[in-house]
Amino acid sequence: MLPPVSGPPDPDGNDCVACGRCCHHGPRTVHLLEADEARMGKRLLELYTDLETKPPYMRFIKNAGDRCGGLDVSVVGQYPCAIYASRPEDCRIVEPASPACLEARSLGHLGSSLGFARQR
Ligand code: SF4
Ligand code: SF4
Repeated sequence: MLPPVSGPPDPDGNDCVACGRCCHHGPRTVHLLEADEARMGKRLLELYTDLETKPPYMRFIKNAGDRCGGLDVSVVGQYPCAIYASRPEDCRIVEPASPACLEARSLGHLGSSLGFARQR
């Protein structure tokens, strides 16, 4: 995980690439529903997601260690999402300066005390 970031971010998301805290989380955090799968398409689904082999066969974004596998970490200190335009609805819930965002920045990773997870 990353160190906390102090202060509130730009509500328009201009601090997100330099932050990336909400994209640091454990496996089985970002799950996909049918609309997410349709948006991503076959190629991105194969690259970035895993379908569970047991009922209820949920599909999740793959993890890479302590972070989301969709995070592009090719540039040190920069955390763009490699699939930003196609990212699942779970990710869109965490808007810049929202309570879940502020919690992630204070923890250095996505927290669990605020309503990140949608109804399943
Ligand atoms: S924690 Fe907030 S500022 Fe940081 S990347 Fe996520 S939404 Fe953006
Ligand atoms: S898919 Fe993109 S926005 Fe969602 S957690 Fe992963 S890197 Fe972050």
